[in-house]
Amino acid sequence: MILLGDMSRTDENLAQGSPSGSRAPWLRTAEGANLLGADGHLGVTIFEEITTLAVRTGAINLGQGFPDEDGPDLMREAARDAISAGANQYAPGKGIPALREAISDHQRRFYGLTPDPETEIIVTTGATEALAAALLALTGPGDEVLTFEPFYDSYGAVIALSGATHVTAPLLAPEFQPDLAALEAAFSDRTRVILVNNPHNPMGSVFTREALTRIVELANRHDAIIITDEVYEHLTFGVAHIPVATLPGASERTLTISSAGKTFSLTGWKIGWMSGPAELVAAARTVKQFLSYSSGTPFQAAVAAGLALDGSFYEDLANTLQRKRDILSEGLRAAGMDVFTPQGTYFINVDAAPLGVTDATALARRLPELVGVAAIPVPVFCHPEGAERTKSLLRFAFCKRVDVLEEAASRIATLKDRL
Ligand code: PMP
Ligand code: GLN
Repeated sequence: MILLGDMSRTDENLAQGSPSGSRAPWLRTAEGANLLGADGHLGVTIFEEITTLAVRTGAINLGQGFPDEDGPDLMREAARDAISAGANQYAPGKGIPALREAISDHQRRFYGLTPDPETEIIVTTGATEALAAALLALTGPGDEVLTFEPFYDSYGAVIALSGATHVTAPLLAPEFQPDLAALEAAFSDRTRVILVNNPHNPMGSVFTREALTRIVELANRHDAIIITDEVYEHLTFGVAHIPVATLPGASERTLTISSAGKTFSLTGWKIGWMSGPAELVAAARTVKQFLSYSSGTPFQAAVAAGLALDGSFYEDLANTLQRKRDILSEGLRAAGMDVFTPQGTYFINVDAAPLGVTDATALARRLPELVGVAAIPVPVFCHPEGAERTKSLLRFAFCKRVDVLEEAASRIATLKDRL
């Protein structure tokens, strides 16, 4: 009999649990996101693991990316008002009209795109659900889904859950832009989806127009759908974010995903969205209906209010983060590590090799005890070859108060004496 009693170890019966003898879907999901240890131990996501460790040790948590200051008062008040006014039952499955209209206005205001709020936009439970709904709707066994590597953890998990094959093309140091020759070689006639993430988590790169144009050309050549995760669209420093959907030949094959979490420093609200051609949105919506049906009603009204904030809000956000980036970069450099200055997101990557580090994952598990700071190892976002390439890289989040970043930098400066 198959029992799920001991979740700490995977079991051959479970591994072979389906009648067809194929791997159980949950096990594929775990493997796809590198949650299975060599000894069969089942882990939680790296974000959960490192945050738990940071809480237990009292370390400054520069691991999981969440701000330590909440988003605009206006939005938090709007959520409270919506609750008081009775917005407490199911929202329409595709999202409240005011939010779909605000998303459409946002796309027009910033990018000149004009998605129809009725048929070309849906609201989701964070970008995470949008990604899952789109991938599960559009890919399956026999398909290939192409991502860059390193890749955000949920990509590997959901591609595996869908039964598709996950193919990668590398982002190489020091710029972490797409390697266009490797990208071309990674495409095949089985490529159903190219899943782009720009600005890129974990590497902090903002893709050039040239790279994005090439992605669109290759997607057209292979008749692949483009799913583009642009949750960091407003977090760029001195470079413009170019949505894939604005490039020639892209709009008819591109689903664009974003979320309120990063733009408004409200990661716990879990309101995301996607926009694109009606038939692709309808496909994803069909699946979304049975993942969550609908998403947090009172938060939707508040996010609609946030999206209408004027340009200065967005400029201040990027300027403030850029200052924080520079404070933490300086501290990491002073600690003797090679720093890759990000053009976007709120993550800085460092190479700890100059300190003699050869295993970033082992170091990330010791770092909170060693110096009282937590970070995320980059190899966990890779398949084995990419993990080898990134074996001494660590990712630090800088979406924290300046005094917290300064304290973290002074603690990290002591690392070389403690290794
Ligand atoms: N994509 C990327 C690249 C992310 O970094 C994150 C984390 N914010 C997500 C998706 C998930 O976003 P959400 O919290 O809105 O589900
Ligand atoms: N996106 C956040 C990060 O990259 C974490 C989100 C999560 O914990 N799943 O740090």
